Amino acid sequence: MKYNRPRSLAQYFEQAGAVPAAGVTVLAGGTDLMPGYENGRPLPVHLLDIKALPELRGIVERDHEIEIGALTTIEQIRANSAINTLFTALVEAADQFAGPQIRHRATIGGNLVNASPAGDTLPPLYAYGAVVKITGPAGERTVPLEEFITGPGQTTLAPGELVQSVILPKLRHRSLFYKLGLRQAMAIAVVNFAITYAVKNGAFSHLAIAAGAVAPKVVLLDTLTEALVSRGATIDDAMHLVDNDISPIDDLRAPADYRRTVLKNVLAYTLRNLLGGGNGR
Ligand SMILES: Cc1cc2nc3c(=O)[nH]c(=O)nc-3n(C[C@H](O)[C@H](O)[C@H](O)COP(=O)(O)OP(=O)(O)OC[C@H]3O[C@@H](n4cnc5c(N)ncnc54)[C@H](O)[C@@H]3O)c2cc1C
Repeated sequence: MKYNRPRSLAQYFEQAGAVPAAGVTVLAGGTDLMPGYENGRPLPVHLLDIKALPELRGIVERDHEIEIGALTTIEQIRANSAINTLFTALVEAADQFAGPQIRHRATIGGNLVNASPAGDTLPPLYAYGAVVKITGPAGERTVPLEEFITGPGQTTLAPGELVQSVILPKLRHRSLFYKLGLRQAMAIAVVNFAITYAVKNGAFSHLAIAAGAVAPKVVLLDTLTEALVSRGATIDDAMHLVDNDISPIDDLRAPADYRRTVLKNVLAYTLRNLLGGGNGR
């Protein structure tokens, strides 16, 4: 196996372009890749370690958005003051992500490209309407996160392309994150969700809910939120609409029925609490 650590994007494109695309694997924090190799996945022909690329680093706040470099670690997200002020659900997801060692290595770019239906940063990013900035030999492009992830472990990244950053529009709405795992830390979500919301006169004037681990990719529960916001449905009457947007499966962590039931129960409890003036819990 060949290993390189390019120092700039230009160097990365040069090194990546010198081998057939299928032979190149990009390494960021390695917290998804390395356990795979330890479990017997064949080593790549050419490992390109992107950790030294300055273009993928940093958190930049602008008037209407915040741009988070792909190499930003989960711990850096957790500690960033602008993200703490504006994007509570993302900070809560970072807080409940793995344990300290993994949080210091795992990157947000790796979480996006890994595209797990249970990835913890994904529900907040979906609920915020995040956009993914991609850089490649042909230049830059941006894609809404919902279109970027196409299935479990699948994205629209073309050979040679990298995720450069993720961009979050600044919203005036509040947000929260919920995760159910089989234990308190170092647990993959059985169900997770993020909500962005605003309450006016005892009703939701804005509501977006993104749920993970209940479909092949994270889903926005638009049928439910539309009924609650636009049609004035009650939480109890509308909760069955969640079934329109999810398709959970049985796996080693939980049966599909359990995921469906727990999502609806915790969501109904949380939404009732928000309308009652609480913080959702
Ligand atoms: C013990 C343990 C606990 C974990 N707990 C959690 C958890 O609680 N929640 C959770 O969501 N995940 C968890 N994970 C999974 C993992 O930590 C995350 O998915 C993490 O965000 C991956 O980031 P990374 O930088 O380590 O990615 P890597 O392993 O380096 O890469 C992952 C994939 O993304 C690609 N990639 C990485 N960066 C880029 C980029 N910028 N452009 C293009 N491709 C890129 C790589 O080629 C690879 O295919 C856990 C993992 C372990 C080992």
